[in-house]
Amino acid sequence: MPIQIYNTLKRQKEEFKPLKEGHVSMYVCGPTVYNYIHIGNARPAIVFDTVRRYFEYKGFHVDYVLNFTDVDDKIIKAAKELEEEVPAVAERFIDAYLEDVGALGVKQATHNPRVMETMEDIIQFIDALVQKGYAYAVEGDVYFKPRAFEGYGKLSHQSVDELRSGARIQVGEKKEDPLDFALWKKAKDGEIAWDSPWGEGRPGWHIECSAMVKKYLGDTIDIHAGGQDLTFPHHENEIAQSEAMTGKSFARYWMHNGYINIENEKMSKSLGNFVLTRDLINQYNPQVLRFFMLSVHYRHPINFSAELLESAENSLERIKTAYSNLEHRKNSSMDLVSNQKQEDWLNKIEELKKRFEEEMDDDFNTANAISVIFDITKEANVYLQESQTSTKIIEAFQESIRDLMNVLGVTVEEEADLLDEDIEALIAERNEARKTRDFARADEIRDMLKEKGIMLEDTAQGVRWRRG
Ligand SMILES: [Zn+2]
Repeated sequence: MPIQIYNTLKRQKEEFKPLKEGHVSMYVCGPTVYNYIHIGNARPAIVFDTVRRYFEYKGFHVDYVLNFTDVDDKIIKAAKELEEEVPAVAERFIDAYLEDVGALGVKQATHNPRVMETMEDIIQFIDALVQKGYAYAVEGDVYFKPRAFEGYGKLSHQSVDELRSGARIQVGEKKEDPLDFALWKKAKDGEIAWDSPWGEGRPGWHIECSAMVKKYLGDTIDIHAGGQDLTFPHHENEIAQSEAMTGKSFARYWMHNGYINIENEKMSKSLGNFVLTRDLINQYNPQVLRFFMLSVHYRHPINFSAELLESAENSLERIKTAYSNLEHRKNSSMDLVSNQKQEDWLNKIEELKKRFEEEMDDDFNTANAISVIFDITKEANVYLQESQTSTKIIEAFQESIRDLMNVLGVTVEEEADLLDEDIEALIAERNEARKTRDFARADEIRDMLKEKGIMLEDTAQGVRWRRG
C-alpha cells in the first residue's frame, strides 16, 4: 500500500507520490539557537526523524534538510545579556541542539544550513522579489506584500481579509499594509549586520527557509514539515515568497505535529512549566523519552507527565525483555528441519510486520504501530513456551522487533546484549578490586551491572549472578 500523508494544505490524507521515483526531499524548520531546547522542540525532531526512517525502511533515499536560525532578535538579546558575540552564542546552542537530539536517536540531517552561511542566497532571493514587484524597500527595510500573491492563506485556510483583521503595524514599522512582513530589517546601532542593496541589516525570519529550500532541495520539494504553530504566519509566508519567486508549487505535502501539554496544561514560560530536553535526558533514558513521544499520533496533542513517562519506560522494558529472552533462548535452539508448523510461525511474523507497515503507511500512525510490536512480543513469548525452538524462528522474531523498533529510532539490543563473558570479566575485575581494597571500583561495577539488569549475589562459593 502506498503511504498516505495528512496534508495540511488539503486538509486530508493523500497518497504520497514522490517527485522523483525512490527519492524524498524533505525540509523541516529547525530551532532558533539562543537557548537549550525544550521538549516542544524535541517533538518535531523525533517525529520527522521517524518519518524519514520509515521512508528509508521502505527503500527511499531521503534528502533531509533542517535549518538553524542563527541570527534573530532573541539571539541578539541573549548575546547582549551574556556579553558574547552572536555567532559564539549560536554556535554553542547549535552544538547543544545536536547533542540533545543525537541522544534522542535523531539521525544527522543531509544539510543543516545556517542563516549566516546562506546570506548571499537570501539577499539574491529578496532582490528578485523586489524586481518582480512582490516586495518593496522602505528606509532600509524590505517588506513582502501578501496581497500581491494570489493564494495567500491557502495553507492556514484563511482569507486575506480574515488575516488582515488580525494583523497590526507595530511602532517603528514602515510597512504599507498590516499584512506585509519583513524580508530585510535595517540594522540598529551596534547590531550584527550584513551589506545589502538596501543598506546594512539582516534578514527577517521567514525568508531564510525559502532561500535554503531552493538552494539545497530545489524549487519544488516533496515534504515540508514543522510544528503546528508554524503554519501561520511562518509557513504561509514561505509559500508566498517561494511561489512568487519561482512561479512553481513550493511543497507538495505539508506536515505539522501537535502541541505538548505539561500535566494537562499548555507549556509556557509564564506558567513555569517549561521543560528542557536536556534536564529530562539527564533524568531518564533518552530512548524512553523518544518512545514516549511516539506513543501518540504525531498530529495529536501529547500530554506530558512523569507518570506517563514511567509507563512508557515500562512498555519499552517489556519489549526489550522479550528481545533478550529470545537472545537467551537462541543458545539452546536448534537448526530444525523445516516443517509446516515452522512455516506457520514465519508467516505469522511476516503478517505482523505487514500490519506494522499498514499502520505506518496510514499517516505514520506510530501509536498503532507500537501496539503491533507488542503483538509480536506476545507471539514471541508464546513461541518460547515450546519445548524445542528453531534458531531460524527465534532470529526471525528478533529481526522483526529490531528492524521495526529501528524505524522508531529505538534500539532494543544494546542493554540486552551484554554477553555472558563480559559479565564474567566484570565480576573478575570486581573481585580483584575487592582484594586490593578498592571498594569504590567494586561498588561501581556492581552498580553498572545492576543498571544492565544483572544482579550479583555473594555466596560461600563465590559470586553468583543472574539477570534480574
Ligand atoms: Zn521555516
